[in-house]
Amino acid sequence: MERVDEGGDVKFAMVGIRRSKPYLVLVAEREVQQIQPSDYVLVVDVNSWKYGVVWALIKGDRVVKWTRERPDLGHVEKTYNKLVEIEREYGKLKRLGLHETLKGRKLWREIKRMRWKLYAYLRDFAQRLASRLAKKAMRRRARVIIDDVLDESRRELLEERISGGLAKIYFSSVRRFVKLFVNQLRWYGVPYEFKRLYSTICPKCGAKMKELPGRVMKCENCNFSTHRDFVPVMWHLTLNHRPLPFGAGRGSEKHMNTSS
Ligand SMILES: [Zn+2]
Repeated sequence: MERVDEGGDVKFAMVGIRRSKPYLVLVAEREVQQIQPSDYVLVVDVNSWKYGVVWALIKGDRVVKWTRERPDLGHVEKTYNKLVEIEREYGKLKRLGLHETLKGRKLWREIKRMRWKLYAYLRDFAQRLASRLAKKAMRRRARVIIDDVLDESRRELLEERISGGLAKIYFSSVRRFVKLFVNQLRWYGVPYEFKRLYSTICPKCGAKMKELPGRVMKCENCNFSTHRDFVPVMWHLTLNHRPLPFGAGRGSEKHMNTSS
């Protein structure tokens, strides 16, 4: 209903059945007017949930704000581990043919409940983040640049030996975030593009950077170093503005103003 209030016209309605109850879907459509972009740019760097979604609001060649958003991973991992434990217990009963017993049925209900809880939590997080970022872009009339490096994140997660099941859950919900975000941007008429922004190549000299503990990236060629999450933002600035002065922003992720 929210979208109807925002100027959409109901084009058609559908009735569906979900969990044996009918529900009504109103499909709203509207002529979307593309907003006229200001000199704000919102760079959104999508990693896996492990490293979150990093966004930076940039005005001209100045980073106004940048931050990382991610769900409560402790909560997710705890729920997931408990789920695996119950599934294992249920599997044992099943092999003994005891899964239809009172205990077996109780475990099955618990498995379903916890799966639902886990997915609902991540879905909700993705939805709220997508909506918040799209509204932010709309208010500032910012162009949006999305760097969607899911393959790279997948490799990173595997290197850290995150359980395959959990990694899969993280990826599907991150993918969902990208989809929801793009839908919202379209809805508001915010111009957006997908662009590859590097996180391991030096934005100052183009050499391969080395990762130090704490996700700090250091260039051994020109000595530039910054937090890994900030490298894509630097790349955006490098690609869109004059080359940054040598050493600016060096050694601190908090050094945000890169104009000299
Ligand atoms: Zn360098």
